Amino acid sequence: MDRLCAHELYRFYHVGDDEVAALRGVSLALAPGEIVAVTGPSGSGKSTLLNCLTGLDEPDAGMVTVDGTKMTRRPEAVRAHLRARAFGILMQSANLFPHFTVADNIRFQMRLGGRPDEARLNDLIEAVGLGHRRDALPVHLSGGETARAGLAVALALDPPILVADEPTAEVDKATEEDLLALFEARRSTDKATLITTHSEALASRADRVVRLKDGRIDHD
Ligand code: ADP
Ligand code: MG
Repeated sequence: MDRLCAHELYRFYHVGDDEVAALRGVSLALAPGEIVAVTGPSGSGKSTLLNCLTGLDEPDAGMVTVDGTKMTRRPEAVRAHLRARAFGILMQSANLFPHFTVADNIRFQMRLGGRPDEARLNDLIEAVGLGHRRDALPVHLSGGETARAGLAVALALDPPILVADEPTAEVDKATEEDLLALFEARRSTDKATLITTHSEALASRADRVVRLKDGRIDHD
């Protein structure tokens, strides 16, 4: 069974009299162990898609199922429960609490899931290259460091599905390799990984690339 399945998602935004069709019938499936990259120009609907897939936003039409359970058109409490159980999420607006250090942000996520694990915390911080920044507050991190700290939080509970919006933007090639290794390690335990990216290197290592253009999947 697919870990994550989206059928014909539509999402419209209305600003004043204008309508923006951010998603126009996007279908997508993510199998256990699979790494899928979503690419496409700025404004093509990548972030909107991730918001709808994780239940942070409700599509105007279409359906999302998580491990076979329908998530769309459910009360927020049900969506939140599914989200907490199934997803690690890194969106572009980072997922860090500003008054917690990097290490405490990860620790807090682990405690929320009822699985504190200091050894895993240390491994994660090293894996994202933030060993020297573990006691830093988010406000003192660079853009790339913020994304990597956010990624460590998203991975804290080794989630069945990792959804990350441009996790390697603003990082150098060597660091991107390290992050790729983190994603690839998830394959062996059947964890699914969905990332948006502008990086050719990253897209080329995914099992599949889904290209978005004007809110549609570009099959060319
Ligand atoms: P991407 O992540 O590929 O850059 P987005 O999903 O952020 O694309 O945006 C897709 C389209 O929807 C763009 O035209 C964008 O301007 C518009 N959009 C995104 N979020 C909103 C919003 N909250 N209100 C109005 N328009 C939005
Ligand atoms: Mg975006």
